[in-house]
Amino acid sequence: MYLPGVGPKRAKLLGEEMGLHTFGDLLEYFPFKHLDRTRIYYIHELSGDMPFVQLKGRILSYEVEGKGRKQRLVGHFTDGHGFVDLVWFNGAKWVRDTYREEKEYIVFGKPVYFSGTGRFSISHPEMDDASTLTLSTMGMQPYYSIPVKASKKGISSRTIEKLTNVLFRQMSGRVPETLPQWLVDKYMLMGRDEAVRTMHYPQSADALSRATYRLKLEELFYIQLNILKFTADRQKEVHGIPCPRVGTHFMDFYHNHLPFTLTGAQQRVIKEMHADMKSGRQMNRLLQGDVGSGKTLVALLVMLLGIDNGLQTCIMAPTEILAEQHLETFRNFLGDMPVRVELLTGMVRGKRRKAVLEALAAGEVDVLVGTHAVIEDNVEFKNLGLVVIDEQHRFGVAQRARLWRKNVVPPHVLVMTATPIPRTLAMTLYGDLDVSVINELPPGRKPIVTVHHYDDHRFTLYDGMRQQIMLGRQVYVVYPLITESEKLDMKNLEDGYDTLCQVFPDFKISKVHGRMKAAEKDAEMQRFASGETQILVATTVIEVGVNVPNASVMVIENAERFGLAQLHQLRGRVGRGADQSYCILVTKHDLSAETKKRIAIMTETNDGFEIAEADLKFRGPGDLEGTQQSGTAFELRVANLARDGQIVQQARDMAREVIDADPNQNNPDYALLWQRLSDLGKDTQDWSSIS
Ligand code: ADP
Ligand code: MG
Repeated sequence: MYLPGVGPKRAKLLGEEMGLHTFGDLLEYFPFKHLDRTRIYYIHELSGDMPFVQLKGRILSYEVEGKGRKQRLVGHFTDGHGFVDLVWFNGAKWVRDTYREEKEYIVFGKPVYFSGTGRFSISHPEMDDASTLTLSTMGMQPYYSIPVKASKKGISSRTIEKLTNVLFRQMSGRVPETLPQWLVDKYMLMGRDEAVRTMHYPQSADALSRATYRLKLEELFYIQLNILKFTADRQKEVHGIPCPRVGTHFMDFYHNHLPFTLTGAQQRVIKEMHADMKSGRQMNRLLQGDVGSGKTLVALLVMLLGIDNGLQTCIMAPTEILAEQHLETFRNFLGDMPVRVELLTGMVRGKRRKAVLEALAAGEVDVLVGTHAVIEDNVEFKNLGLVVIDEQHRFGVAQRARLWRKNVVPPHVLVMTATPIPRTLAMTLYGDLDVSVINELPPGRKPIVTVHHYDDHRFTLYDGMRQQIMLGRQVYVVYPLITESEKLDMKNLEDGYDTLCQVFPDFKISKVHGRMKAAEKDAEMQRFASGETQILVATTVIEVGVNVPNASVMVIENAERFGLAQLHQLRGRVGRGADQSYCILVTKHDLSAETKKRIAIMTETNDGFEIAEADLKFRGPGDLEGTQQSGTAFELRVANLARDGQIVQQARDMAREVIDADPNQNNPDYALLWQRLSDLGKDTQDWSSIS
């Protein structure tokens, strides 16, 4: 309100619709682009493919052309070197009253050539009185994004431009520096005052990029500093349960029960985890490995290490189906070993539940396999030492945090994910976790062949499916179901199921979707897993973790509606046995350019990391699967995790340096940093809740 141009009404509008309450808010409301207005063109220089340009001259006369809805006001404009038509399709009276003939204007807009008139024309140009030009209109002009609501109430980019312009001119002080001067000097950064001014009104493209860099680095730096400080504090305060022993359980299993040799990568990550567990610190590790890379087995081996040290262990899966599958896998692997594995899900009720809970509290259960049900408050362990969270992105932060309270000394935590996360994103989202990567698939796997099919060429598709089934293989057919209640999606699935029943009367077909009762779903999945049915028609309930090695074909219907990460997950359901496997992406004909690219990436590569990088570029980290629940309030103002990977790395290095130089946070040279960090922390989430 204290800014010329802002009255009480506008102040309210800016505050409510754009979050601009203070001068500081306005200063940090950065434009999303600039238009180069440093140059004025002559009309005879114009050519057909120019972006926005500026011309300087006069309107000689106005004329109304066309009829009805095509009626328009045309101003014949000249700069003494040629003629251009300025065109307005509405507001003719206002235009005529405002832009007077014979007065000199700077005209700004995109020139389009019309062969009919032999002249260029500019529709709805921006007009400035040539005698009252401000610095901004002659330099790089800022363009601010304006929310629709504010725009409807008359706020335009131009409005904000005028306000920032006035603000900078009437501001006597400087924008306070938020980094210590020695750090600014050391990294040759632009000062904050200059950077903020430059963001709005850069003197050159070069200055703009230096300003952007400075602000991005600062933003990412404080995030990294926060993460590293949190990790350092945790290591100081929280001690881990020491697990020095490699005992009989691990050894017996390794030598007598393991049905195959571990891959080099599996061996390596197990060593990394064991090193954590015997260090006396609490393990907090993220295990990344592509679908089918054998994470479950790694989890089991690490759990056996825990058991060897007298501890109880637990593994949480995101769905009942998956939990049951883990139970079965573990029991099969372990055979007659003296390890008690129990299941706890929402389905385990009554007497069975009571028995499991009692055995758990008495310390008789070695491995508890379950879903969210295991973190309920009434589930008590005697001595919980290790928690494995499978397919982490289905678990919210709050749920993970509850695990910490399940034991006096917080248990070791292993988070496993098959959604590969690009390095720079992982550094930010899971920056406090140590990372292990399985970068190798078990031997003998043939790369999955992925092909794109249009949905009106089903004949060859059905043919291929039949051939595979005749070879004894099984086929998944997956439909998108964006929300389980969407009628149309359900109809697609039902229709698809009916069609398949007609096309393949000689085969048995299972059907699974999220609206079925858990028990029904399980039974159908079981029928498919046991080989009783040859085709499984399903929604994405099968996305996570299901293991049917005999299935060799994954048909994804309406593939255009799935994101890359999801497509890759689904594809990972096949290719688990030694047979050649196929993934068929079925789409409609008219696809957007972006969808075409997505499909192309899928057909070109099986590499989950490559796909994750591409996904990050397409969608931006905010939408990336799993990040919504990550618990980091990710409102980056200037930096972009998809594009600024290099700056993330530099921010990380800088933060590392600071933590190492002032581990106890009492060096006056660093006081500003710690103060700023604590100020920033007040309006972001509590990092200590992230496991
Ligand atoms: P994911 O990493 O997707 O969870 P799984 O743990 O389900 O993968 O493993 C996929 C399949 O590979 C399972 O059938 C598992 O038994 C098998 N497997 C795991 N490790 C090996 C190995 N070292 N050699 C051969 N097969 C393995
Ligand atoms: Mg798995």
